[in-house]
Amino acid sequence: MDLMKHYVNGDWVAPKSDQNFPVRNPTTEKQIGSIILGNQEDVDRAVNAAKKAFITFSRTSKAERLVLLKRLLIETKRRVEDLAQAISTEMGAPITMARNAQADAAVGHLEGFIAALKAQDDREILLNGDVQLHEPIGVCGLITPWNWPINQIALKVIPVLATGCTCVLKPSEHTPISAKIYAEIIHAAGYPKGVFNLVHGNGMTVGSALSRHPDVQMMSFTGSTRAGTAVTKDAADTVKRVTLELGGKSPNIVFADCDLEDRVTSSVLECMYNTGQSCDAPTRLLVQRSCYGNALKIAKHAANGQAVGDPKQGGDHIGPLFDRIQFDRVQEMIKTGIDEGATLLCGGLGKPKGFETGWFVKPTIFADVKNDMAIAQQEIFGPVLVIIPFEDEEDAIKIANDTPYGLAAYLQTGNPARAERVASRLCAGAVHINGGGFNYGSPFGGYKQSGNGREGGALGLKDYQEVKTLHFG
Ligand code: NAD
Repeated sequence: MDLMKHYVNGDWVAPKSDQNFPVRNPTTEKQIGSIILGNQEDVDRAVNAAKKAFITFSRTSKAERLVLLKRLLIETKRRVEDLAQAISTEMGAPITMARNAQADAAVGHLEGFIAALKAQDDREILLNGDVQLHEPIGVCGLITPWNWPINQIALKVIPVLATGCTCVLKPSEHTPISAKIYAEIIHAAGYPKGVFNLVHGNGMTVGSALSRHPDVQMMSFTGSTRAGTAVTKDAADTVKRVTLELGGKSPNIVFADCDLEDRVTSSVLECMYNTGQSCDAPTRLLVQRSCYGNALKIAKHAANGQAVGDPKQGGDHIGPLFDRIQFDRVQEMIKTGIDEGATLLCGGLGKPKGFETGWFVKPTIFADVKNDMAIAQQEIFGPVLVIIPFEDEEDAIKIANDTPYGLAAYLQTGNPARAERVASRLCAGAVHINGGGFNYGSPFGGYKQSGNGREGGALGLKDYQEVKTLHFG
């Protein structure tokens, strides 16, 4: 696949820069291609195309945009398998989850946004008689990470297209293949030239150029808190709207009154899902002291049963980490946990037996962790769970909220009144109760340093809209 061109104004165009970046397969460690890293001129050209396209696309009716979105849905469904294969190759997601979750998100979010757009009243009459309009904000700069590459692209690009905005997408330099396929899908759906543009590149150059660009009205960023802060600072001089979806260290509170075997087993597997590379993974398991010993036995059994395997084979095993950088980071954090004096319950340093090639790691659990240890405070982004004991409800809430993050929280309890009571006191954008999963169309986003704004569904549209009030005389 040719990754040496950007998609600008409806065409694949030769880059202005000549800097390359290797694309590697994390399972084989082999280079499978190269992408071009764009520069300021590439960004200027793409923003210019988006600015011109905004003049007409912003004036399209909701009905016209719904017709285009339905065509996008048809084209997306045709390419789901291509997206899944690309994601599996470029970041190592096992093919079954790449199909059923990673690539499926392109369809699921699109259906969620279509329903939200249909239901949105873009001309509201306020109680005082004034009229409130929701209008597209303008040219949007979109920056996405590698861990759920198409999920994140869909959550940003679709509301742009739905609201009448235009955009320049800079996907992660580590997952350019799925991004290119997504651009082909938009092209096939027949969007007007310049509505969607893609510039390959790294954060320091293309990401920063977009964030600082005077003709970009909004930046939507998903990635690390470090890079999100940089985008916010870069965007400040031009007073852009900035929405951020950042990291997490989500607590998972296990009360003794839950179905312990079932809930602890599921909790461990959920932490390991996507090889632990999910921003909202339940990575801090807080366990009530009265069932702590039993919970450790169940957790260890579950982690030992978590198979590691080749992403190209079907099944519910986990694959490698996405890159050597991530492998080294995770090894460093496992070493930190050992040095901090946490009890290594299973897993540990090194690669699992039989997986010496590829960035595979052992599903790892630390017990007897204190919440002020680095392994309890920092995002590890690998299949590493930390288990912390707690005494009672108050203690659990205090530990759960004692983190700079606030993306998600998880609760396991047989008492529905307790579930709502505790959920209301957790600083998190979502609380998953007894295994309740995310549904397309619901808002996704965080409190505190996990970001601001909400992606998906009705709120995900509003982030891309300005409000105008008409006062009649
Ligand atoms: P990252 O921050 O390194 O990179 C994310 C994107 O930002 C990439 O496209 C990168 O090129 C770009 N970037 C890097 N520095 C930049 C800068 N200075 N200016 C502009 N752009 C810049 O993150 P990553 O390693 O790709 O992804 C993992 C992180 O993403 C984790 O922290 C994870 O929690 C977070 N994440 C959050 C969500 C969410 O919805 N909250 C979802 C997925 C991932």
